[in-house]
Amino acid sequence: MINKVFKSRHFLISTQFIALIVFVLIIYGAIGITTDDNNFAKILRNTNLSNLVIWSYWWPLIIVTAILFGRFWCSICPMELVTSFAGKMGFRKKPNKFLRSGWVITLFYAAILIIGIHTFAIHRIPQYMAIYMIILFAVAFVAGLVWEKRTFCTYICPIGHLLGLYSLLSFSKLRVKDADICNNCKTKDCISKSNHYKYIGRSCTSELYPARIKDNRNCILCGQCHKSCTKDNIAIQKRRFASDLFTDIKLSWAEIAFFMIVSGFVIYEIFGEWKVSKKIIMAIPDWVNHSLNISGNPAGTVKAIILFIILPFAFYFILSILKKATANETWKESLTQLVIAILPVTASMHLLKAILKTTSRIPYWDFVFSDPKGVETAQLLTDAPELLNRGILSAISPYIGIIAILLSVGGLVLSLFIIRNQRYKNRASRVISIFAVLIYSGIFLIMLISWRMFYIS
Ligand code: SF4
Ligand code: SF4
Ligand code: SF4
Repeated sequence: MINKVFKSRHFLISTQFIALIVFVLIIYGAIGITTDDNNFAKILRNTNLSNLVIWSYWWPLIIVTAILFGRFWCSICPMELVTSFAGKMGFRKKPNKFLRSGWVITLFYAAILIIGIHTFAIHRIPQYMAIYMIILFAVAFVAGLVWEKRTFCTYICPIGHLLGLYSLLSFSKLRVKDADICNNCKTKDCISKSNHYKYIGRSCTSELYPARIKDNRNCILCGQCHKSCTKDNIAIQKRRFASDLFTDIKLSWAEIAFFMIVSGFVIYEIFGEWKVSKKIIMAIPDWVNHSLNISGNPAGTVKAIILFIILPFAFYFILSILKKATANETWKESLTQLVIAILPVTASMHLLKAILKTTSRIPYWDFVFSDPKGVETAQLLTDAPELLNRGILSAISPYIGIIAILLSVGGLVLSLFIIRNQRYKNRASRVISIFAVLIYSGIFLIMLISWRMFYIS
């Protein structure tokens, strides 16, 4: 059925149009809604319908779908529509070497995380969220005007590496059905230049040749090659979970750096769920901010740099030095091995964070339709927090606890299987990878077990 949907000439593009309209409405619902009060913003983030939908449902949902099924969000993403539309009338310049390196994606993501979220709280203040989304659409449009093909998706989109790396896990893949048909195909419609700028039935503008796709990272499941292939030789297929991680994956430096940031960010996100663990994770940033007398927004910047850049980079580089010393690996080899080994644990904890976020916001749905802007509700809940009906959260709490432990153990087991399958130069290098995974997943396991045992909301 999914292949019928992808072959349909109008289904995905219509869905992209609908998604574009929804995003415009979301931006409209967030414009003008702002506050200078941090505590008020913590409630407003959940009472403003636009903010609630984007950060507590849309964002977690695309993480979950990427991990389980691949880059299906990209299939209906309105930004792809905008950048491809602009590309039809643009200058079609070739992206330069730096753009093609993937570093723009990593730097863009780091800037959003450190400056956007942890300095200016774009996730809490609806107006800032709207500005952020307008900027993203504007960049997608301008990139489409300037560069050829789908440069924004391939080399700029700030979540490109995240979706790409997590889709290595998914249960599905897009591949050709029969490689021999491709070998004998004279027209090669799926990569033909003449098809690059069609609205429907485009050849691949993500620099891929469907017959040679090795892993899920770069295919954004736009479904265009489904329609351009005249031999009906392309299909989305089921596969064993995480099978890409059992192959010899070569990561770019930009992907490695991106993943290091994400692995630090996920620790912060999970530890932030419990005030005891939050205090622990915040000990170093708080000490630095206190010592340097930094407060307000810049304190958030310092915290993010320490937790998402300095500490994770130190963790990976220390282990990498050990691996190099014992097995004479290159930096890239040892860091790639570590990233691939740790990826299932990070993804499983990101999945958990998505579940925690979407479920914890359920009580706010009692209010958002009667007051979609959310300012009055936020004021009401500030004055009388007991009005928020948390009954359902208490009811599902034991199940969430079980899911949390299962996910962390599942991530750890998968990581150990991957390490068993990875090729290492010697035993010591493999042992260091196991050690890295045990430390990283152990941090989560200890926190989650303690949290559930001594649960204080
Ligand atoms: S790469 Fe980014 S912009 Fe492109 S389709 Fe995916 S999410 Fe949308
Ligand atoms: S995917 Fe289709 S169009 Fe492309 S080479 Fe194979 S048979 Fe030809
Ligand atoms: S191979 Fe290219 S055209 Fe086909 S779905 Fe993937 S990104 Fe789209």
